[in-house]
Amino acid sequence: MTEAHFGNPEKRLKEFFKFHKDTLAIHGGQHPDPSTGALMPPLYLTSTYAQKAPATPWGEFEYSRTHNPTRRMMEDCIALLENANFAMGTSCGMSAIDLVLNLLSTDDHVICVDDVYGGTYRLFTTVMQKQRAINVDFNSFDDLASVEAMITAKTKMIWIESPSNPLLKIVDIKSVAELCKRKNILLVVDNTFASPIFQNPIDLGAHIVVHSLTKYMNGHSDVVAGAVVTDDRKLATELYRLQNSIGQVCGPFDAWLVLRSLKTLAIRMRAHQENALTLAKWLEAHDKVEKVLYPGLESHPQYALAKEQMHGSSGMISFYLKGDLQKTKDFLSKLKVFSLAESLGGVESLIEHPAIMTHASVPKNLRDAAGIGDNFIRISVGLESIEDLKSDFEQAW
Ligand SMILES: *Cc1c(COP(=O)(O)O)cnc(C)c1O
Repeated sequence: MTEAHFGNPEKRLKEFFKFHKDTLAIHGGQHPDPSTGALMPPLYLTSTYAQKAPATPWGEFEYSRTHNPTRRMMEDCIALLENANFAMGTSCGMSAIDLVLNLLSTDDHVICVDDVYGGTYRLFTTVMQKQRAINVDFNSFDDLASVEAMITAKTKMIWIESPSNPLLKIVDIKSVAELCKRKNILLVVDNTFASPIFQNPIDLGAHIVVHSLTKYMNGHSDVVAGAVVTDDRKLATELYRLQNSIGQVCGPFDAWLVLRSLKTLAIRMRAHQENALTLAKWLEAHDKVEKVLYPGLESHPQYALAKEQMHGSSGMISFYLKGDLQKTKDFLSKLKVFSLAESLGGVESLIEHPAIMTHASVPKNLRDAAGIGDNFIRISVGLESIEDLKSDFEQAW
């Protein structure tokens, strides 16, 4: 892929870096349409672009797998939100993850945090390990010395999520980044749970950030999309080459919807957090609840670290109900405002049972050891009235 295909993001984005994130979420990478003055980004539904003469394109664009103006505006906006220059929009979060894993070759070694998104665990174990001969080790990242002890000459990548899913553990991104720098290993952070409003892993030393845009970034539960972000030109060139060769791209309509949703990202994230913190405190004080996990609660074992590396604690809460599997299932089935569903990060509140839903692909012994048991519940706190959310719980338990 030639340079022309990803243009010159450093030049395109330069004028935007002075802005704060609330402004970037609304204006980042966007200008009124030069031909009409349309304020909103146009939806370019085209597969190809006319050429003036053979091999003389009209402008920068040649073919929409390679690039599309609507997708590019979304990519630029997301890059800016992560304080970086390069982003690639993909068809979903998993394809963003797979795009990054295509940087690896047979026999390379990866160390991954053990409390990882269920789909990522499945990709690492059933595809990367079994079919692509990539060696993967899992580590809790509670003790960095034990991570360092796992590093071999073949270790190319460390993969972390913070806050983790569903236990909401915090990984010390800065310390892991220092280790990666010392050992010349790529650090990838899945930033889906925090969103760039609350955490910027590249500023903490990560080389690559991935997002499932399906979650907070789009936030309206009507799109499946993903993104890869980096501020390293060499890595970006390689990732664009892989994206164009393999074809992990998001369609222009999805990019347009995400771009529209990003305009309210900052205000949505603050509202998610406000509702989540109120609900987490209420749950913690409730006699039907055994224990609450939320990084914004002082009782969270890594509260201080979360405060240091994040700018907010997001809208995800996990908790243990007092009772067994049947009681937990009954409670979940009786809810009316909370929808029983996988996924997260939308304006509506969702609730789920990780052991039988999102994390069913993780072996039971690993789930039990981690504390993902029968009475363990994960919620994505939406933007409804907090009083209605509390009443819904009261009528269900
Ligand atoms: C949902 C999710 C993914 C996968 O994203 P899709 O858009 O569903 O493919 C990856 N990582 C995390 C943390 C997620 O929550």
